[in-house]
Amino acid sequence: MSEKLTIEQALNEARRCLHCGIPGCRKGCPIQNNIPDFIRALREGNLGAAYEIISERSNLPAICGRVCPHEKQCEAHCVLTKSKRGIKIGSLEMFIADFAHQYGLKPNPKSNGARGKVAVIGSGPAGLTVAGDLAKQNFAVTVFEGQSEPGGVLMFGIPEFRLSKEVVRSEIQQLRNIGVEFRCNVLVGPDITVDDMFANGFDAIFMGTGTALPRTLDIPGKELKNVLTADYYLRMVQLVHNGMLDDQEAILKEGDRVAVIGAGNVAMDAARTAVRRGAKEVTVFYRKTEKEVTAFPSELEAAKREGVHFRYLLEPCAFLDREEMQECTGTRVSVTESASIDLKTADLKERKPVGGILLQKITQMQDGSFLPTKENVLFSCDCVVLAIGNKPAARIVSTTTGIQVDEKGFVITRERPYGMTTRPGVFSSGDVVHGPATVVLAMKESKKVAEGIAQYVDAKRLMNECGS
Ligand code: SF4
Repeated sequence: MSEKLTIEQALNEARRCLHCGIPGCRKGCPIQNNIPDFIRALREGNLGAAYEIISERSNLPAICGRVCPHEKQCEAHCVLTKSKRGIKIGSLEMFIADFAHQYGLKPNPKSNGARGKVAVIGSGPAGLTVAGDLAKQNFAVTVFEGQSEPGGVLMFGIPEFRLSKEVVRSEIQQLRNIGVEFRCNVLVGPDITVDDMFANGFDAIFMGTGTALPRTLDIPGKELKNVLTADYYLRMVQLVHNGMLDDQEAILKEGDRVAVIGAGNVAMDAARTAVRRGAKEVTVFYRKTEKEVTAFPSELEAAKREGVHFRYLLEPCAFLDREEMQECTGTRVSVTESASIDLKTADLKERKPVGGILLQKITQMQDGSFLPTKENVLFSCDCVVLAIGNKPAARIVSTTTGIQVDEKGFVITRERPYGMTTRPGVFSSGDVVHGPATVVLAMKESKKVAEGIAQYVDAKRLMNECGS
């Protein structure tokens, strides 16, 4: 987790860097940020140069400085980490980017748009990376966003306490400064199609639509009130925070008991958000053990520190309303202990508030696999948040022709030009191609796809000039 540094702390930290000939930090950075050089510029007090160096590879340094898992990437590879005092690279990146935003530094000139017209669908990390990289190369880039404000998961998925929305807005402003145009409240599919975009003169189209459809559990009681997906819950809370929704509509009430299903980073975000919004208790349920938790260790520890409870080897098999919970016989499970019950569930009724969960115990076999047992336990709660992953929506693919997806709905792309789908001129990367990943991994792939788009548009224009 990056920490906010004073200028004195940042300079002292920069002075510790050894400026290694073969810098491990750079190797560990998925987008090969020139870390030694930006640290050197910072040490020399040249913050403008430091920001320019960072901006060569990254369009979102203030965001990366906050949400990248530095402890697993650049900082893990820093030579000084072996002596347990690695350079705080994430904190330095954040310091430089924040300074640049505060003083309005603009490292790149505005695009003249002469090299071609590119439409970018979606403004999450993948879309913003492609937009920034192409605008820097003099493409005219228009970003289409379905929400009221750009940023995608950065704006509506990652909670405020992990990533301030003012920081996201500042990064987006930097992209506007280099000529990227944003069109919000436009849903590609219903409002405008890929074919319309080509007809409107775009040379290439990039789909960075992420995995917009949250996975749900197809079990009894799934339709009960207050059984929500984490995407929906986090978006509602952010809309309340942005003043666009009444506090009453943020679903979770102060004093509620909340169950979160899943143990990835989104589950930690949802659990910590519920704690901050005054939940009486928050319990994360996971069908495996703590060893298999997919959230970053730092996020898991942060959730524990904030009082989130964890119950492992349990999987929901029904959501029950309050009456059904009362009708069930047997001992209730608390956040710290469990007991088997003799359960009699009543018929499920529609849209009553959820009152609890029937969970099945899971056992780990000798070969490491996890199998359900016949033992059930009950857990009382007022709200269930499902954080069990996402899948791509078919909105774009189903409203045009020629874009093939695999059996799970992920878009198929090719190596040459890098990132092009089965439809010429339409490119894709990020979660909609590879499944959910971190911000920086989406950026890494998207940088390569931006190169593929540039090659494609150049080649197409050349062929047109030759009369082919
Ligand atoms: Fe500096 Fe560590 Fe990178 Fe070496 S590996 S250049 S000490 S940040």
